[in-house]
Formats: sequence, C-alpha cells, structure tokens
Amino acid sequence: MKKELEELQKKASAELNSAKNREEIQAIKTKYIGRKGLLTQILRTLKEVPPEERPALGQLSNVIKASLSAKVEDALRDIDLAMKDEALLEETIDVTLPGRGVKYGKIHPITRVSQEICEILMNLGFAVVEGPEVEFDYYNFEALNIPKDHPARDMQDTFYIEDDIVLRTHTSPVQVRIMEKQKPPVRIISPGKVYRPDSDVSHTPMFHQIEGLLVDKGITFGDLKGVLTYFVHQVFDKDTDIRFRPSFFPFTEPSAEVDIQCVMCRGEGCRVCGQSGWLEILGSGMVDPEVFKVVGYDPEVVSGFAFGLGVERIAMLKYGISDIRLFYENDQRFLKQF
Ligand SMILES: [Zn+2]
Repeated sequence: MKKELEELQKKASAELNSAKNREEIQAIKTKYIGRKGLLTQILRTLKEVPPEERPALGQLSNVIKASLSAKVEDALRDIDLAMKDEALLEETIDVTLPGRGVKYGKIHPITRVSQEICEILMNLGFAVVEGPEVEFDYYNFEALNIPKDHPARDMQDTFYIEDDIVLRTHTSPVQVRIMEKQKPPVRIISPGKVYRPDSDVSHTPMFHQIEGLLVDKGITFGDLKGVLTYFVHQVFDKDTDIRFRPSFFPFTEPSAEVDIQCVMCRGEGCRVCGQSGWLEILGSGMVDPEVFKVVGYDPEVVSGFAFGLGVERIAMLKYGISDIRLFYENDQRFLKQF
C-alpha cells in the first residue's frame, strides 16, 4: 500500500507538470485528492492492512495530500501569471486617447489673502510669529489691560474652556507672549485663527486675524499712520482714500480705527457701506503704557503701535463677497473663482 501511495504521488506530480490550463489542473486535483479521488480510494483499503502499520500509512497519505495541494496551488498561480503575460503581449494601447482630467486643488481665498497681507508686512521688516489658539485668560485679557469684570470684556463674547482658559478672541495675546521673551525693538505680525460665539452674514464663530506690533525708541503715531497707509494702498489700490477715526481699545491709547473709501461705490454711498461711503477695515493704536509695564518694558523709554485686522473682512471687500459663510461651505463653484 505504501508503494501504491508513492506511485500515486509520482503520477499526480507528473500530470500537474504537463497541465496546460486551469481546467486541467482542477481535473487532476479532483482525480487524485478530491473527496472521491484515488487517494481516498486507496485509504479505504487501510482496514486490510495489519493494525500496527496503519498509523504510518495514515501519516504518509496526509503528507502526500498536503504536498499535492500545494503543487496544485503553485500550478494555478503559474498559469495565471502566464495568462496575464500573454494578455499583455496581445493588448495594444491607443496612446492617442485623451487622458482623464486631474482636478487640482487651489489655495483657499482666506489663505491667499492672509499670505498676501503677511508678505506686504514682511517686506516692511515685520517677522511672522504664532501663538496658541487655546489661551490663558491672562494673555487674552488681563495682560492686555482687560481685568476680570472690566466692561471691555463685553466687547468680545468668549468661548471659555475653563475659568481661566479660553479660545483666544483675538491674536493680541501673541504680542504679550513675545514681549515677555524679547527686549525691544520688536517688529512682529501674528496671523491665526480666533474664536467668538457669533454667527451671521458677517460673523463666523472662527475667523482669522492678523495682528501687528512695532516697539522701539521714539515710535510715534506718525509711524503708525505711515505703515498702515502704505499697507492699505498695497492691499487695495493706490488711489484708495483712507481715514483714521478715533476709537477705543483697552490695550492702546490713543486708539484709531482705519476706514477706507467704500470699494463698492467708490465713496458715493451704498448698501454695503450704509450710505456713509466708508468701510472700517482695521483697529490700531499706540500701545498702552499699562501693557508695557506688564511685560517689563519701560514706557518712558520705548513706545510702539499695534494693529489688528480680520482677514475675512479684507477678503470680502477685495473680492466683493457679501456673505462671510461662503468661505466655509466648501462649495467648489465658489472656491473655483479664485
Ligand atoms: Zn459703498
């Protein structure tokens, strides 16, 4: 019986070697090691063998079955590969067919405007720095001359994470962090996301600001006007009229808001500018001596100015967009236009 088994293995191997396609291989598999195959038939005669020889024969038949199964798999794989090769050789490729178009991503309009603004200011010598979006109450408010229970806190609704941790409501805390670490002169801009619980056609709960700070000996309001006038003329066009209007911010004194001539009506008065002919685009002012004291600068020796602007607002005016929410709807028809 041992001989029979070995004979069967030899024959099956030989047939597998000369098989030409999947069907032949499958047939050989069924013939030899299928449920009713030759191997099973031989094993049926096991009971005629003396009992002490049976375990060895059983084991041998298992080994043969496993080895033949593996051979079948190999043969099938070889056939598949051969068929693929053949198909590739026969196939012709029409290189004149047009390809499938690839859609390119584009830089989001907010990122674009933000980069453009940063570039203009970097050309003036400002360095870009960033700070955390989750901020201590201390940096977001207190160090900026806005103590707890100060009425100025009502100017900005705030997302609180814990009693003394907030989502920053402006990029101004970055100036405090920088001044704590660096002696004057300081010349920085700080772009980034800020958060306020507001949502309508001109407010989103998250928006982008760019903050600027310049501190040195002998900095005057004239420097502030010069830098911001140059800046506005770069962002919009050189003929854009600009005015500085007195305002209030807790961390600057004196403070001024900067208006530009309405880009929609050129100053004639329209719905966008509320018939005034002017649009507010940024807040600015001379750094309050109280802020300098907090970071250990001597307000008798140095002075400086700071300004902050909303990137969405600038982008809306630049591109004539009337609803801020369009920036965040990810509608390709909108985004494609930039
Ligand atoms: Zn107007």
